[in-house]
Amino acid sequence: FCPSTGIYSSPWRSTPPPIPPLSLPEFLLSYSASSSSSSSKPAFIDAATGATLTYADLRALVAAAARSLAALGVRRGDVVLLVSPNSLHIPALVLAVLSLGAVLSTANFLYTRREIQSQVQDCNPVLILTTADLAPQLDGLLPRPLTLIERFLESLSVDRTVPIEFAGVGPADPAVLMYSSGTTGKSKGVVSSHGNLVAMASVLRHVWGREEVYACVLPLFHMYGFSVFVCGAVAAGATVVVFRRFAVEELLKAVEKHRVTRLPAVPPMVVQLAKSSGVAKGYGLGSLKEVVCSGAPLARKHMERFADGYPAIKLAQCYGLTETSGPITVCDGLEDRLQISIGRLIPTMEAKIVDVRTGKALPPNEHGELYLRGPPVMQGYLNNQEATSLAIDGEGWLHTGDMCYIDRQGLIYVVERIKEFIKYKAYQVAPAELEEVLSTHPDILDVAVTSYPDEEAGEIPTACIVRKAGSKIKEDDVLSFMENKVAPYKKIRKVLFLESIPRSPSGKILRRHLKDTVMQHQKIE
Ligand code: AMP
Repeated sequence: FCPSTGIYSSPWRSTPPPIPPLSLPEFLLSYSASSSSSSSKPAFIDAATGATLTYADLRALVAAAARSLAALGVRRGDVVLLVSPNSLHIPALVLAVLSLGAVLSTANFLYTRREIQSQVQDCNPVLILTTADLAPQLDGLLPRPLTLIERFLESLSVDRTVPIEFAGVGPADPAVLMYSSGTTGKSKGVVSSHGNLVAMASVLRHVWGREEVYACVLPLFHMYGFSVFVCGAVAAGATVVVFRRFAVEELLKAVEKHRVTRLPAVPPMVVQLAKSSGVAKGYGLGSLKEVVCSGAPLARKHMERFADGYPAIKLAQCYGLTETSGPITVCDGLEDRLQISIGRLIPTMEAKIVDVRTGKALPPNEHGELYLRGPPVMQGYLNNQEATSLAIDGEGWLHTGDMCYIDRQGLIYVVERIKEFIKYKAYQVAPAELEEVLSTHPDILDVAVTSYPDEEAGEIPTACIVRKAGSKIKEDDVLSFMENKVAPYKKIRKVLFLESIPRSPSGKILRRHLKDTVMQHQKIE
C-alpha cells in the first residue's frame, strides 16, 4: 500500500514472464501449450463419456473448425454467437472463432428466445452456433440458418498435419463479448480484447501452476468458467474434465476417476457439497487439493460446514467480474484453511478503496468501493461510451460497485454489493430488465425489483409492485405473468405490494431505501 497515492499493488512474490503480444489462440495453442505439455496429454475429457481430446487433437480440431467457419463466411471482426451447454468441443470451437479474428459472444443456453433476440440485436452476429436441442427456439433469429454444433463437428475434415492459420489480430483487437449489467441498468456487451485474455491466461498459469487436473462444472458461457478453463488451464497445459451440469455424485465419481486436483465453484455448489459430505466418504478424493469459490459471497457457516465435511480439502475464495476478464484475486499461499477473505490481488493488478461520498482513497481496513486497474480490465461496453466512462474513469480505474476493505497483509474482503444487480446462484439478474417486463402488465402502476436473502440461492429476485386503482392482482398472477418471459434463474420468486416505490425527485428508484423497505416488511410478516 502506498500512503501517498492510496494505491495497493499486488503483493504476489513473483511476477509472470512478460506477456507476448499475441492473440489468445496463438498464445494458447502455439506459444504456450506446445512448450508446456506434450501433444499426447489430455486437454479436455468428457466427464460423462470419458471421450478425450489431447493437446494435439485440440490444435487439429481448432484448425479444421476455423477452415470450415471461414468457408461459412466468417471473417475477421465478425461476431459469432455461441449458445450451448458445456461440452468437450466448446473450447475448440471458441478458439477456432478467435483464430479467424472473429469475436465470440456467448449467451446462457437457458435464455428465452426474447432474451437471445435482444442480444442478437445488440451484437449483430453473422452466425449462431447452437445445439440441435436448442435450435427450435432460436430458429429465424438471423436471415441465415443456425449452425448446429453436432452437424458442424461431423462435417469437419481433421488433419493433424495442417497447421492453424492465425488471422493476424493483436492484443488490442476485440476477442470476446459477454454480457453484464455492470453497476446499473440493463445487460451490456463487455468487450474483452485478446490482450485482456492473454494477460488473464498468463497470470492464472503463474498463480495456479501447471500440473493440474481441473473439474469444469461452471458454465463456459460465463467469464469465470471461460477464463479459468479456456484461458488459464490451456495456457498451463492442464487437463480439464468437462461436465454438462453440476450433480454431486457425478462430480465425486469423476474426481476419483480422473484424479482432479482443483475444483473452481460457485457458492451453491459448495453448499451442496457440504451437505453431501456423508456421500463423499464413499469416494477417493485424495487428489483434490482445493475448491475455489467465486461469483458471489460465501457465508461463513457454509465455509465451516464444508471444512468439517472435507478436512483434507482447502476451501479458498477468488473474486472477479466479467469486466476484469476473470478472477483478479486468489487465495493461494494462504495457510489458514478457512479464508473469509477473497484473497490477494493477482500479479499486474492494482486496487484502490474509495470513499463513495468524497471520492478519496482510503487506508487499510477502511470500507469503500473497490476500484481496479490492470491488463485484464475490459476495453469497455459495446457501443456504449456513456456506460463505459461511468465504469472506467479517466485514470483507467474500473469501479466495481463492490464495497470492500483491504487489510495490512493485502488481503481483500467484500463487505457488500452496492451495485444494482442481484445474484441468484451466482448468476447476474438485472433489476432494470425485470422491471421493464413487469411494467408491461396492465394492472401494474409502478414496479421495482430488488433482492431478498436466501439460504440456498444467496439472493432471490423480489418484485415490489404498486397496483393500479381497483386492481386485485395477486402474487400468483405476477409469477405466472413472468413465466416463460425470462430465463428460469431470473424468475421473480417473491412479490410485495406497496403503496409507492421510493424514488428520487428525478424519478430514479432509491434502491437502498427499497431494500430496507423489503427487509422491514419481512420482519413484520
Ligand atoms: P460477474 O460479472 O457475473 O462475474 O459478477 C461479478 C460480481 O460478482 C462482483 O462484482 C461481485 O459483486 C460478485 N462476486 C464475485 N466473486 C465474489 C466473491 N468471492 N465474493 C463476493 N462477491 C463476489
